[in-house]
This record gives sequence, structure tokens and C-alpha cells, in this order.
Amino acid sequence: MNRIHNFSAGPAILPTEVLEATSKAVVEYQNFGMSVMEMSHRSKPIVAIFDEASSNLLKIMNLSSDNYSVLFLQGGASTQFAMVALNFLSNNADYINTGSWADKAIKEAKMVGNVNVAGSSKESNFNFIPKELKLSDDADYLHFTSNNTIFGTRFDNLPETKSPLICDMSSDFLSRELDYSKFDLIYAGAQKNVGPAGATLVVVKKSFLEEKGKSGLMTMMSYKTHHDKDSMFNTPPVLPVFIMNETFKWILNTGLKNIEETNIRKANKIYNLIDSSNGFYVGSVTDPIDRSLMNVTFNLKNEELNAKFIKEATANNLDGLKGHRSVGGIRASIYNACPETSVDALVSFMTKFMKENN
Ligand SMILES: *Cc1c(COP(=O)(O)O)cnc(C)c1O
Repeated sequence: MNRIHNFSAGPAILPTEVLEATSKAVVEYQNFGMSVMEMSHRSKPIVAIFDEASSNLLKIMNLSSDNYSVLFLQGGASTQFAMVALNFLSNNADYINTGSWADKAIKEAKMVGNVNVAGSSKESNFNFIPKELKLSDDADYLHFTSNNTIFGTRFDNLPETKSPLICDMSSDFLSRELDYSKFDLIYAGAQKNVGPAGATLVVVKKSFLEEKGKSGLMTMMSYKTHHDKDSMFNTPPVLPVFIMNETFKWILNTGLKNIEETNIRKANKIYNLIDSSNGFYVGSVTDPIDRSLMNVTFNLKNEELNAKFIKEATANNLDGLKGHRSVGGIRASIYNACPETSVDALVSFMTKFMKENN
């Protein structure tokens, strides 16, 4: 197979090994005489996949299944905006507004309770991460977005709070070593960094769920339902969970530390070129410490040149570089599975394009 350089923001590139294992299992899973998609979710082999996925994930995150529960849900991170608030917003919650996704999470939470926006970069089109926060004393939780897929920022350090910490980690989940035990709940749509569209991961601290989870919710909206039934209250997204488990195995084999180091090296190659381009390429994030390692966003002199860049890049097998439709410009999404050779190809193209158009 001739794979082109894929910089799509999501659904995004997956490791080739994962695709190959999936393509086999889609036709026949092990020696069961049927596809992984054709088996009952309550059958032994499928329950085993779910158990393995959950234990592999906790292993990567260095968390214990005594303290944390993994839920495989549907409805995307967008449904989590509502579920987080429904399950945990009793009086008041702190939110940090660092982008369109955070903004949407805030909108949903406001339908449930009182929201204190503890920090925001909305006024400057989200080009930095707010460092000074005005936290409430009594917040049910602090919600933040660790990586802002559209604007190309990320939290280098976790926000400090006494409240439980909840994070939308959709676009940098498992991209770096972190003290994951600092979080009470993490959620992520799979399609950015760990799998295909169709599954949403939730990792929740059991004590937080048991002590703070609200009751009286509609069945499917309650985390407790999915926790009590091991994500099998209703038919779960079996194939996406299979694929995520293959990705987790790939991460365990590669090592999270190695993945993080490669991610840093990949991102720096592009940022270094931007910084040394004498303004030919202009990064959209003001403070280098806030720069995302997953989504590198930048602009050229004008929209005409942006368009020319994307057109020529596409002709050179560099795909998916158009910025989000709400902000324009260029965005290179270089998730875990994006090989360093693809970043090298992009950097050579950028160097050549600069010479030809300066
Ligand atoms: C893509 C994305 C979302 C939305 O995810 P869906 O699965 O499409 O609902 C939410 N938050 C972040 C940070 C994202 O990157």
C-alpha cells in the first residue's frame, strides 16, 4: 500500500500495524469463523477484548483498576460535554475557556448549573493558554481542554486546583507521560489519537463517581450505568474498541516515553522552521510554551498564499493541511501515529515553498 502523508485533524492517521490487524479481524477474528463485527458483544471473545483494552489503557496511564474505571461510550466528546455536567455539576463548576471545544462544553454545562469561567483567551481568538485563574472555593470540579485542536495550543502544565480535575483530552490523549492520577475524569473522542470515530473513552476515578456522581439521571446519561455494566448496558462500539486496543498494544510496545520524545522532536522540526523563516511562516500561538505538539497551526502572508501552499502540498502527497474552517490558515496534525518521515517531508516541502515564494 502506498500511504500518503496524512496530517488530518480527525479522523486521523492510525499506525499501519493497527490497520493490518483490523483488516484481518474484520474478515475473520482469530479462528472463530466470523468477523469481529459479527459476534455478540456478550460473547466471551468480545468481553475479553474489552477487558484487555481497559487493562492495557490503565497500564499505559499507570493507573490501577482498583481506583479507576474505563468506560467505552458513544456520542463523541460532544456528548461528554453534557454528561460531565449532568453527572457532577451540582452547584457550581470552574471552566477554562481555551477554544471552540471548551466553549461548547461551557454552553452545555450552563444548561445544568452555574459555571464560573475561571480563565479565557476568547478575546484574543484563543492564541494563548490563560495562566492566572480565578477559581471558585466551592467548585464541583474544574474542567479544561488539554489540547486545543483548532487553535494549536496546549497546557504544558496542568492547571492547579483544589477541586476535582476533569479534562477533555480528545486531541492529545496518550501523547505524553503525565501523572494521570491527578485527574478525576478524563474523556476523549477516539478519532484523534487512539482509534477510529465511533467510540469515546472515559477514565473516571471510582471514588469520585461513587461519592460525587448525581443520581436520578436518565439511564444512558449516567456514568454509573456504564460503570456498573462494564460498558455493556447497551450494544457498545465493538469494532472501534477492538481498534483502540490494537492502538494501546502499539503504544505499550513503543513505550509512552518514546512516543512523547518523538512527538516533541516532530513538533520542534516544524516550529524551528517557522521561527527561522523571517516571518514567511507565522505561528498562530503567541507564547512558545503554549504550542501544541499535536496540531501545529500557522499562516502565510495572505489567504492567497495559504491556498497556494495547500494546493501544492496536496500535489506533493501532503494531505489534510487546511486549517479548521472557523480559523483558516494551515494546520498540520501530527498525532502519535504520524511518522517522523511525514514531518520531514512536510519540512522539506515548507523549505522549498519558502524559497520559491519569498
Ligand atoms: C474533536 C474534538 C471534540 C469533538 O469530538 P466529537 O467526537 O466530534 O464529539 C471535542 N474536544 C476536542 C478537544 C476535540 O479535538
